Amino acid sequence: MNQVELLINQFLKEARNPKQTVTNVMASTGKKAFGCFPIYVPEEIIYAAGVLPVGMWGGQTQGSKVNAYIQSFCCSIMRANMEQGMAGTYDFLDGIIIPTFCDTMKAILANWPVAVPQVKVIPFVYPQNRTSEYSAQFLISQFRNFQYNLENLLSKKISEADIENSFLTYEKYRAAMREFVELVNYYPKTLNPKIRHMIIKASNFNDKAVYTKRLCHLMELIKEMPQEKVHGPKVVITGLMAEPEQFLDLFTENGYTFIADDLAHESRQFRTHARSEGTAIEKMAYRIIDLRGCPFFYEENKSRGTMLKTLVEKYNADAVVVCMFKFCDPEEFDYPVYKNELDKDGIKILYLEIEQQMDSVAQLRTRIQSFTEMIMNKIK
Ligand code: SF4
Repeated sequence: MNQVELLINQFLKEARNPKQTVTNVMASTGKKAFGCFPIYVPEEIIYAAGVLPVGMWGGQTQGSKVNAYIQSFCCSIMRANMEQGMAGTYDFLDGIIIPTFCDTMKAILANWPVAVPQVKVIPFVYPQNRTSEYSAQFLISQFRNFQYNLENLLSKKISEADIENSFLTYEKYRAAMREFVELVNYYPKTLNPKIRHMIIKASNFNDKAVYTKRLCHLMELIKEMPQEKVHGPKVVITGLMAEPEQFLDLFTENGYTFIADDLAHESRQFRTHARSEGTAIEKMAYRIIDLRGCPFFYEENKSRGTMLKTLVEKYNADAVVVCMFKFCDPEEFDYPVYKNELDKDGIKILYLEIEQQMDSVAQLRTRIQSFTEMIMNKIK
């Protein structure tokens, strides 16, 4: 096994074993850990407190204790988080933060303190309409409230200098991630859909400074290799997240390249550049204000369709693949709008309904195979 394979395997192992990875990082850094429900939570403030932010994007769970608190038609990510919380999986965390982007999250926020009282929760509210200057001011005040609540929970003061340094660490991480997703264009085999996803996923359980260093090292080694040719379909992938692993295997089997993504779990986290002026807290607020094409925020003239079309054009992609998480209302409400725009431009769409706990991917395999044949015949 060469050095690139060794490094990739390490990321795969970490992505597959979140709890073990976090435990190892806690042991090696001496840090406590704090859970971050999706999405866009102010990890920089947690990191500034010398605590490890841990992404909580669900996972494979069994059990139905959660049914006592939320309905069966809530999304699989939140059901998994709650189930694991009730099973004591998160007892090692010093607390969690839950934003309130959708009705399911609001329900979780209300139920968590009763169902999982041992893991303290700090709520976070984002401004939905970001067109007024007051939205930025509101967001800054929310960040300060969160800082205050976190300081109380941890019995520790967080200095401005710590927040500035933490923000710089996250900026380096985001720049490295943007470079990484670009690199897939030149190494579609080495960074196939599954490996690409797992490397990004591993960032949720690692210390960002250490992860960034390791990722940059991997990218340097990959860049020394001869570039690889794309043979199968090149697609832009959109939606909340692309999981589970066997779902991604279907794309790898069919020779797909994820040439660009608009996934909440991936590029939406790091594609928006920070403004150059202001304090770290102000820059964090304006990154949210400047974020475009995300259904979790109100946009009068929705820009997601245009953004997807631009990505298709820029990377000469063959189609857009929609990963629709079952029962994710914000994503579902957005779909007809951008589908209409893509249809008008004759851009092919593959719509796949998924969830984290899938017994079988056989039907999806058939659909992806047929779509592949259609795309490849068109290319010939
Ligand atoms: S419904 Fe969608 S936005 Fe809400 S928690 Fe579930 S996945 Fe996230």
